Amino acid sequence: MKPRLNALLLSTLLIPVALLDQGCQTQPGPTAGVHQVQPARTKAAQQAMTPREALAELQAGNQRFVSGHPLGGDPLARVKTTAAGQYPIAAVLSCIDSRQPIELIFDQGIGDVFSARVAGNILDDDILGSLEFACKVAGAKVIAVIGHSNCGAIKGAADGVVLGNLTGLLGRIKPAIDRVPPEVQPRNSKNHEFVEQIAEANVRLVLEQIRERSPILRELIDQGQVLLVGGMYDLATGRVRFYGH
Ligand SMILES: [Zn+2]
Repeated sequence: MKPRLNALLLSTLLIPVALLDQGCQTQPGPTAGVHQVQPARTKAAQQAMTPREALAELQAGNQRFVSGHPLGGDPLARVKTTAAGQYPIAAVLSCIDSRQPIELIFDQGIGDVFSARVAGNILDDDILGSLEFACKVAGAKVIAVIGHSNCGAIKGAADGVVLGNLTGLLGRIKPAIDRVPPEVQPRNSKNHEFVEQIAEANVRLVLEQIRERSPILRELIDQGQVLLVGGMYDLATGRVRFYGH
């Protein structure tokens, strides 16, 4: 049963990539896609998927998004088929920035991903608890921490902005600032290179914090049941670059 499901799953993952590789001359565009019906993922399909296959699906989905050929589908149909249960493949922690909606940039539908969003994609106890729920209780296979270029929260932290409750949030980014080599000057938001290096260091910091602060997630990761990955989203191209994993 399981190998067959795996094969089925793989075939659905690989077909769009294969078409893209052929130059996608005849690939239907987004308009044609709305006529397709993307069935909701079943519990069996979620359980049969390996963490690497789940990551491959995120990568393939971003490739579909960047190439302008999302799978499409009928969101309202998905609402109905997922109402009784959800079996997402991944939990994604990202920034609240309006320009990086996770389901769109990974070409995923309703019921496909848990999405935790907070300015600067920082970690706190509530986010950590949400990730524990997503993986330990609800079976997600990947935790992806996705920062992005030109992030306002990172810039605010770089400039030491003080503003209401935002002050404390930006304080969580400060350890990432300290990781950027002192040669990178000037150290303010006007320096694009400084901002991008903080954003990347911040993602790596959060990856470490997830492992350190959650014995539950650390065990799942060490046992190979969950893959922990980081990446950066480029606001200008729509592309997600995952770090080595
Ligand atoms: Zn941001």
